[in-house]
Amino acid sequence: MPEGPSLRKFQLLTSPFVGQVVVKVGGSTRKISVNDLNALRLQDSQVHGKNLYLAFVAVRGSLGPTAEETVLQGEAASGASPPAQGGQGQVCAPQMHPQEEEPQEPQHPGSEVPGAAEGPGNWLHFHFGLFGSIRANEFSRANKANKRGDWKDPAPRLVLYFESGGFLVFYNCRMHWCSSPRADPASDILSAEFHRGRALDALHTPSPICYTLLDQRYFSGLGNIIKNEILYLAKIHPLTQGALLALSDLERLLDFAVRFSSDWLHNKLHGRKLRFQIYQKEQCPLGHAVIKETLGPSGGLKRLTWWCPQCQPAVLSGDGDPSPVTE
Ligand SMILES: [Zn+2]
Repeated sequence: MPEGPSLRKFQLLTSPFVGQVVVKVGGSTRKISVNDLNALRLQDSQVHGKNLYLAFVAVRGSLGPTAEETVLQGEAASGASPPAQGGQGQVCAPQMHPQEEEPQEPQHPGSEVPGAAEGPGNWLHFHFGLFGSIRANEFSRANKANKRGDWKDPAPRLVLYFESGGFLVFYNCRMHWCSSPRADPASDILSAEFHRGRALDALHTPSPICYTLLDQRYFSGLGNIIKNEILYLAKIHPLTQGALLALSDLERLLDFAVRFSSDWLHNKLHGRKLRFQIYQKEQCPLGHAVIKETLGPSGGLKRLTWWCPQCQPAVLSGDGDPSPVTE
């Protein structure tokens, strides 16, 4: 595996392409759908340890700035967040999640968990194999014959052609979408390495399920919108103790989390907004009145939560109390 300095070189190779739009794609990878990268703008390039992260955003026509850029300008103007291209050491969440703004919630600066990204991210995380490498504007050529005696050039996993006419070629690497440049892939719902067993263990506790879902140790990238939406889809009351739910219900909730996040990412990459079922709604899709309340552990992060008391009935614990009593 290439070490840190090689990764820095890889990042230097990618940086001239930051700000450019991908006009054509190629490569043999089947870990991601390479065509998803078509027409996206490379927004940022970061290296953390032995990992390279490239951020992509949708380009929305040529009429004006993208929603992302608008948000960025707003944030820059208000001094709330540094500009996107600032480079190293930034948490990616602020500049990447414009749709997930929650204007109706009171803002508590500093109360958010660092890196608690809202919704799926659009960072492509590269892990390089032993002979992993990146080339800019050239392909790697065979420098010796292979075992069969062929002089066969290495097959790139990914090729990105940019509007300037230049291109980046990625060899011997694995890649997956993730929500934040430092997320542990085992806790990242968008990662192929997401550890379901660990997530199920975390959910299967006496804690209210809506608290656990926002715990970034187990669900990095899962934010308040996803929490509200998947609890509605799974028909689970947000304050239900995870331990009272059948394992099959928790499995189903995880399935919704993964599917919802992937769909959202897909929409985001294509510049489309996702329609919500319950988040910030007054009625659920079946026309029932929705309850809105600020929920969270005592001393912890409290977030506005929407649920339908009819579609998501409270589960009774053994002693007959509605589950659970808020702390
Ligand atoms: Zn309902």
